[in-house]
Amino acid sequence: MKEFQLIEQFFTNRGQKRRDVTLGIGDDCALVQPCEGKVIAISCDTLVEGVHFFADMPAKALGYKSLAANLSDLAAMGAEPAWMTLALSLPDVDEKWLEQFSLGLFEAAEYYGVALIGGDTTRGPKCINITIHGQVPEKKALKRSGANIGDWVFVTGTLGDSALGLDILTGDKQVAEEDKAYLINRHYYPTPRVLAGHALRGLASSAIDLSDGLSSDLGHILKASDVGAVIELDSLPLSEQLTNNVDQQQALAYALTGGEDYELLFTVPESQRGAIATALLHAGVKFARIGQICAGDKLKFTLNGEPFKSEFKGFKHF
Ligand code: ADP
Ligand code: MG
Repeated sequence: MKEFQLIEQFFTNRGQKRRDVTLGIGDDCALVQPCEGKVIAISCDTLVEGVHFFADMPAKALGYKSLAANLSDLAAMGAEPAWMTLALSLPDVDEKWLEQFSLGLFEAAEYYGVALIGGDTTRGPKCINITIHGQVPEKKALKRSGANIGDWVFVTGTLGDSALGLDILTGDKQVAEEDKAYLINRHYYPTPRVLAGHALRGLASSAIDLSDGLSSDLGHILKASDVGAVIELDSLPLSEQLTNNVDQQQALAYALTGGEDYELLFTVPESQRGAIATALLHAGVKFARIGQICAGDKLKFTLNGEPFKSEFKGFKHF
């Protein structure tokens, strides 16, 4: 199968049709029509076999997750997903793999209203790169730099499930049979919090998505905002599938340092606390208050009201 046939069969005319795509796949560039009064939010992510995913990861999950990771970045800015490009490097043309990969990719694309408008296909080690474009009303994007002393710290969903799911897959952890599928699914099929991101616009003072672990990602907000924070470890939202299978110390380690939760962490001034609760309830997203922004530049923890010393660090790529 030639490159053009491959594109035609698996990627052209699939998924969302958007009226703002003037010219899609097939020319040297795609053309899109941005919405007036909005700015374009752009982000890209690369997944390399053996580094970001194992060779035996189901292709459908890989297709879904490649896009979900990008959508999570848009969510963290409060942006609405619109267009994506896909750069694929593949060692060979494996039609079964491509069929499943594209199925997972377009499942996420359809759900979140993203059109595939172009890409690049080459031979090489297996590697997936997606560039996503979203739109957000001018001056309304959620940034890392807006947290203020006294703001409350919140997260969506539950923390640490994805990292435990990964440990189950690698054989590093064993869990009760009835919890296995849930935890592995949280690793393979994370939910990008796009609706929550919209709901937070104009209300949250800062936001970030949790890809490298809470400790590390909250650290980015603290640095960008030039503040510190106190996190109450007993307030971290944990799934029963997690707490059923590991002790408290391990649960905290998963929640604070486990990567790829793709939940949102955000800060809220006291004046917007009620409005946020209403907005997130409407978005149907669970959320929890886990601490508060304070003066200084340190991330501190408490457990049952007492200071808690820890060495919890997030994932580092280098
Ligand atoms: P060029 O050589 O001008 O970069 P290509 O021959 O690589 O163009 O690609 C032809 C068309 O197919 C372009 O519109 C490109 O955006 C699109 N395309 C290539 N690979 C992919 C892919 N994996 N997914 C979606 N579109 C693709
Ligand atoms: Mg090309």
